[in-house]
Amino acid sequence: MTTIHTGSVMEDRIIEAGQPWARVVRTGQVLRIVDLHGTQAVDFLCYNASDPTERYNAADTMKYAKTIFLTRGHGIYSDMGRRLFTIEEDTCGRHDTIAGCCSAESNEFRYGVKNTPSCRQNFLRALEPFGLGKKDIVANINWFMNVPVGADGTMGIVDGLSRAGDHVDLRAEMDVLAVISNCPQTRNPCNGFNPTPIRVVVSG
Ligand SMILES: [Zn+2]
Repeated sequence: MTTIHTGSVMEDRIIEAGQPWARVVRTGQVLRIVDLHGTQAVDFLCYNASDPTERYNAADTMKYAKTIFLTRGHGIYSDMGRRLFTIEEDTCGRHDTIAGCCSAESNEFRYGVKNTPSCRQNFLRALEPFGLGKKDIVANINWFMNVPVGADGTMGIVDGLSRAGDHVDLRAEMDVLAVISNCPQTRNPCNGFNPTPIRVVVSG
């Protein structure tokens, strides 16, 4: 893995397969998310830490970027038209903005299995200490998840393109509550059918 940004490291943590994480990333700090083993989807939500009613807006972020595929230089925008994060580095180049997070309910609908671990449950676990819950879960970003869209509009989750050590660096443009679910899905290729640990580093 390449060097971390200069400055002090506030947190450097392994998030085990299938586990959640959340933290307030202060203005100017950088959140690095590392796909340690490759092909691991990292579901991601973010909120204005001082007023979480302002939060990530997928549609506006795509409109401003003029693409559904976010990468280096793009902003991650709130529903108030303000940047929550800027993507400063992206060694993978393919992430998803449209497919959302897995849930026990969608796994039952799609795969006929009940009570599976899910990103939605992880989001709820991670949001609870901040006083947030179901009403606060919106369409999310999936780092390192590959969801191509065909010219005819067909879409689907296919093999991820990230390799071991690929990472994104997100610079906070305000104090941001960042929420991660290291996706536990085993029934489609988003995690190579084998969920693995990731690493998060907050520095600045
Ligand atoms: Zn998931």
